[in-house]
Amino acid sequence: MHKVAIVGRPNVGKSSLFNRLVGRRDAVVADFPGVTRDAKEGLMLHQNHRIVLIDTGGLWSGDEWEQAIREKAEWAMEGAQAVMFVLDPREGLSAADYEVAEWLRRLGKPVIVVANKIDSPKHDVYMAELWGLGFGDPVPVSAEHARGLDDLLDRVMEHLPEDDEDVPEIAPIRISLIGRPNVGKSSLLNAITQSDRAIVADQPGTTRDSLDVEWDYGGQRFVLVDTAGIRKKPDTAIEDYAIQRSQAAIARSDLIWLVVNATELGDHELKLANLAYDSGKPVIVVVNKWDLVPDDELKRTEKDLNQKLHHISYAPRVYTSAINDYGIHDMLAEAMKLHEKWQGRIPTAELNRWLEVWQMRQAVPNFHGKKLKMYFMTQVETAPPTFAIFCNRADFVTRAYEGFLQNRIREDLDLAGIPVRLKWKEKG
Ligand code: GDP
Repeated sequence: MHKVAIVGRPNVGKSSLFNRLVGRRDAVVADFPGVTRDAKEGLMLHQNHRIVLIDTGGLWSGDEWEQAIREKAEWAMEGAQAVMFVLDPREGLSAADYEVAEWLRRLGKPVIVVANKIDSPKHDVYMAELWGLGFGDPVPVSAEHARGLDDLLDRVMEHLPEDDEDVPEIAPIRISLIGRPNVGKSSLLNAITQSDRAIVADQPGTTRDSLDVEWDYGGQRFVLVDTAGIRKKPDTAIEDYAIQRSQAAIARSDLIWLVVNATELGDHELKLANLAYDSGKPVIVVVNKWDLVPDDELKRTEKDLNQKLHHISYAPRVYTSAINDYGIHDMLAEAMKLHEKWQGRIPTAELNRWLEVWQMRQAVPNFHGKKLKMYFMTQVETAPPTFAIFCNRADFVTRAYEGFLQNRIREDLDLAGIPVRLKWKEKG
């Protein structure tokens, strides 16, 4: 895996750059020196390459470039194949900047000079001084406004060694965002894709007016399917339209964000939850407008949610406020986690150990003195994980018992949040 370090004096915008590139925006970025404390690592994606980014920003204690910082930075940058040296040319170069440049030259790694806070072409005049550092063309960017990042990454790639083997295609996670009108879907979409690295793509061959939006986050590519249906506000037959549209979007996705308004739950939520359940795809319940729920209503809201969404009680919930950017990271992180588990495979030996222990621990259904016996279990499909259980009498398996088993499987076999299917096979 490629590894690239970000180096530079406090307050030049290293954290903003790091956050932009790995795709998070919830980390602390403040406009005064010394906010971040440690070196951080994050994963990012460029041209289908996963790159580990190391932000050494936290190692600086003040404006001084000292021996202690230098040692820690060298340690943190171990294995990095290139360095982004970030400067704020509008401030002019300081003595510390020249010392860092000298140190980088001695380290011998390729250095790309990044001129940050270049928000408009008229700032270009500040770039001249950076030439003097002797690392070639500086790359102008604005981490805050997400400008120039692709050019920067192209430059970085030039300095990274070629991969020996073919880079496997990194499959995107395709997500649908469903929910009643006005629950905040457009607002969440904006919060998620607030960067010029998100691409709105017209997808040929799909519904004529469907629009897919793509972006990278934490080294993973995401596609939100059919955002046209989210942005457009139908004014007639609103609920039916939303249901139809949701169904189409779900069919094209791997995972579902079901958005509900924390302050206003209706029957519609139940219908959408059923659609989601029937699809067998993982669902994340996004409880939006969380900022509007008063403290003394939190318990009642949770109870309402449990009631309305009992069908998909296994689905994880994230609490968001689209207008405050709150919980957006959780939506994405949870999606990555579920997607991976949804595709996972559990070894047969482990499943049968589990089945054996479970049958010893728990009474099985029993009809007219005859007991259900489960002999053997194996995973027959992934996405969703589907298990075949061989037993003496499939007709002894009640819905309640099956639900019970599904819950145990999720809990015991690390499949929390994942829809699991069971197939019963009789064996004499
Ligand atoms: P959509 O129909 O589901 O796409 O909903 P919109 O994104 O258009 O949002 C409907 C209204 O709710 C707008 O006025 C938003 O500003 C507001 N809104 C969306 N998310 C939040 C939130 O988290 N908190 C609050 N207080 N208002 C929100």
